[in-house]
Amino acid sequence: MCGIVGYTGPREAYPIVIKGLKRLEYRGYDSTGVALLNGGLKVYKKKGRVADLEEFVVGADLHSHIGIGHTRWATHGEPNDRNAHPHTSASGKLAMIHNGIIENYAQIKKDLSKKGYSFTSDTDTEVLLNFIEDIKKNNECNLEEAVRIALKRITGAYCILLIDQDDPQTIIAARKGSPLVIGVGKGEHFLGSDASPMLEYTKEVVYVNDYELAIVRPDELILKNLGNETITPFITKLDMELAAIEKGGYDHFMLKEIFEQPSTIHDCLRGRLDAAHGIIRLSGVQNNIDAFKNAKRIMIVACGTSWHAGLVAEYIIEELCRIPVEVEYASEFRYRNPVINKGDIIIAISQSGETADTLVAIEKAKEQGAIIFGIVNAVGSSIARISHGGAYTHAGPEIGVASTKAFTGQLAVLTMMALKIAKENGTIPDERYTKLLFELESIPEKVEALLANATAIKVIAEKYKGANDALFLGRGYNFPIALEGALKLKEISYIHAEGYPAAEMKHGPIALVTETLPVVFVATKDSYHEKIVSNIQEIKARKGKVIAIITEGDEVIPGLADDVFFVPPADEIMAPMLSVIPLQLLSYYVGIAKGVDVDKPRNLAKSVTVE
Ligand code: GLU
Repeated sequence: MCGIVGYTGPREAYPIVIKGLKRLEYRGYDSTGVALLNGGLKVYKKKGRVADLEEFVVGADLHSHIGIGHTRWATHGEPNDRNAHPHTSASGKLAMIHNGIIENYAQIKKDLSKKGYSFTSDTDTEVLLNFIEDIKKNNECNLEEAVRIALKRITGAYCILLIDQDDPQTIIAARKGSPLVIGVGKGEHFLGSDASPMLEYTKEVVYVNDYELAIVRPDELILKNLGNETITPFITKLDMELAAIEKGGYDHFMLKEIFEQPSTIHDCLRGRLDAAHGIIRLSGVQNNIDAFKNAKRIMIVACGTSWHAGLVAEYIIEELCRIPVEVEYASEFRYRNPVINKGDIIIAISQSGETADTLVAIEKAKEQGAIIFGIVNAVGSSIARISHGGAYTHAGPEIGVASTKAFTGQLAVLTMMALKIAKENGTIPDERYTKLLFELESIPEKVEALLANATAIKVIAEKYKGANDALFLGRGYNFPIALEGALKLKEISYIHAEGYPAAEMKHGPIALVTETLPVVFVATKDSYHEKIVSNIQEIKARKGKVIAIITEGDEVIPGLADDVFFVPPADEIMAPMLSVIPLQLLSYYVGIAKGVDVDKPRNLAKSVTVE
């Protein structure tokens, strides 16, 4: 994971790098560091957040026109000052930052140790850096050549930025498996894990591909492959404004992103859903329509919250399209030996489009003849680029570490996809199709209506903030929402929580029920309603505390539950887009009440670009 920033040009580098790191801090916040060139190499690094580094450098001479900076999410070596990036080579001349994991670092470290190298950190990064320096020395080649040779000999994932005190205007960058964007300015270049560090300076960016190496100088950007062949950089125009990555008056990005959902879902549907004319325009599906029509099965590959969106999609696609669906954790899928037949469709879901496990899983499936359909939020990301077709969620940058608006965007896209395929396949009656299109169109309004009542959730959160454990139960379309509610609470409030299908609760979790255990039922009006009412009775009979998310007009559950939150009525297929929102708010308000840094909860990072 981790955030990477670089700058070379006429401006002062330090303020640009620091501001960029603050924007990328969501990617990792174990430690922060910068390397500058100012009459020699200067490295400042510190355990903790960007703010801790800023305090640490007070009084230092930070003047430099080149700089690289890093916010770490530790994989090798505990988060401390020593292991913070940038790392410095044995000669003291090179500094490097790295996002990823060098898998064969132990053997390289052993070899280098035999040659007399010693190491000041426990990281794989420092090993790669000295490996590069050693190659440079032995082969009497330049740094660029040494990097190329080293990268061919390592396994794992990386995005690296390197500076050399003997070449004070050049940053050498390379990537495989971890993202890298280069912003092209006038006589200056910016580098970042995503485009946010460069937004106010340039809208022209180059998304670097795997196995590419960039030599970046103020007025020159040379892109090469690892075979030393030059590649013409493909410049993309950024379609993102600064306001999209700022808090806009909210206390936290998470709250802002929860409240953005009426507009983000609307943006996702806009230009695609035309209920009045019965049309869904999804060019990614349309261009592959025969594949969807002939598909014997669909596999959905994802991690975390995106995996929960996949589970909802399994229910919807099977119901509407009558195509068998399997939902897989990408980290498992990539290492087992799944049966993939030519023509199978794999839907990869990822907010960042850079999730390492999902990326590798689809690369493998693609080799075996599967058709890859990507559902991602970050425009131009790796998954978007390697998919045969896809659809963006258009939720805008999601910065809070816990995913909220990206999830409802994923559900909106998946619902449109299912409806479109069902219509093409003739598996949905016209009347139901039309009704569902209008239902989908009304979701942003309904989300707005329920958000107007957010303070009701705040009251519930206050009441239960002291809980040690919580159980989340749901059936049917709301079962994955129970899983998502439990995940959110764990992430944001550190309360242990389990999500279960409501009926399955009798096979174990019911043993946890005491009069202090909050049990959250996601129980909107659907075809399972009576069943879930019985499950609520079962919990109440054992004195559990029931919090229920229910549909306006429900007259039964308010008489049983301790606390209820009403959401507007909706077809059961759409209910997850509504019922998840009170659960996002619940985790947010409990987290705040407990003093958790909700935008950056401990041990987590936003996009998991290491496996
Ligand atoms: N493997 C490196 C480390 O543990 C980089 C981790 C990251 O991507 O932040 O320092």
